[in-house]
Amino acid sequence: MAVRVGVLALQGDFEAHSKSLLQAGAVPVEVRTRQQLEKIRGLIIPGGESTTMLRLLNVLDLMGPLRDFGSQKPIFGTCAGAILLANQVLNPVQESLELMDLTVQRNAYGRQIDSRVAVLEPDATFEQRVGAGKLEAVFIRAPIIRRAGENVTVLAEYEGDPVLVEQGMHMAATFHPELTADSRVHRLFLSKL
Ligand code: GLN
Repeated sequence: MAVRVGVLALQGDFEAHSKSLLQAGAVPVEVRTRQQLEKIRGLIIPGGESTTMLRLLNVLDLMGPLRDFGSQKPIFGTCAGAILLANQVLNPVQESLELMDLTVQRNAYGRQIDSRVAVLEPDATFEQRVGAGKLEAVFIRAPIIRRAGENVTVLAEYEGDPVLVEQGMHMAATFHPELTADSRVHRLFLSKL
């Protein structure tokens, strides 16, 4: 039976992630309550606005349940989701789940060129696990990972900064793999469940 993977559905582009999960062979489940966390094997925190998501997570009392979930099961954060996973957030400093040893600077590419499409050359370990070839990456008001701890593996870089990383069971991307047809990044996450 196909694996059930949650997508945090409070704000942001969660619907696109659900489509990517389907395409990658999983069953997507929209998650809005702590009870729904019990029925999934892993969770995606989508892009959107991390401040808004944080406010909703606090109002709904979901920060604790998400930290508990992340201590046992894989979470993949994209863009705002990566910001929420990091253990240190800059510009400005804000609360986060602190599940990955990353320092992340929000909105780090500046206002003029805040969105772009880049072609990445993923690391050999990425290609061995999910298939070879360049990776198209859509950045939208993206953060930059300024520091990655020693237990973090960098799977792809853009302009010398890590943009796709993993630490144990968790994964983070500063771009939006749910906006391209290439399902390798989602398949990599599914391989960790
Ligand atoms: N700029 C957003 C933030 O700081 C992230 C943008 C995104 O998720 N596309 O939360």
